[in-house]
Amino acid sequence: MQPDVTATLRALLIGSDPVSGALLAQVPHTRVVGRCGCGCATVDLEVDRTAVAPAPSHGNPAVDAGYTDPHLAGVMVCTEGGYLSLLEIYSVSDEPISTWPDPRFIER
Ligand SMILES: [Zn+2]
Repeated sequence: MQPDVTATLRALLIGSDPVSGALLAQVPHTRVVGRCGCGCATVDLEVDRTAVAPAPSHGNPAVDAGYTDPHLAGVMVCTEGGYLSLLEIYSVSDEPISTWPDPRFIER
């Protein structure tokens, strides 16, 4: 994965709950397998399921957060069967966000 995708996932999965912990453990075993067609930075993810355990049962998206800068943007982590499957950036404005903002600006 590109460093900005990894950094964004790590920032979103910091937490003491078992779901965040399990998903964070998957990050080193995750690769990008697809991109969004609209030009935004959203990536499809695939975890090597032989390497790590699935996260315990949880809602989808597993994480949903906003950015303080750019403040019209939000980010979601989605899973399939307990494994990371999508890191999606979305924008309230019409322009797709084509690069990952600095994870320091994530607001949870
Ligand atoms: Zn898109």
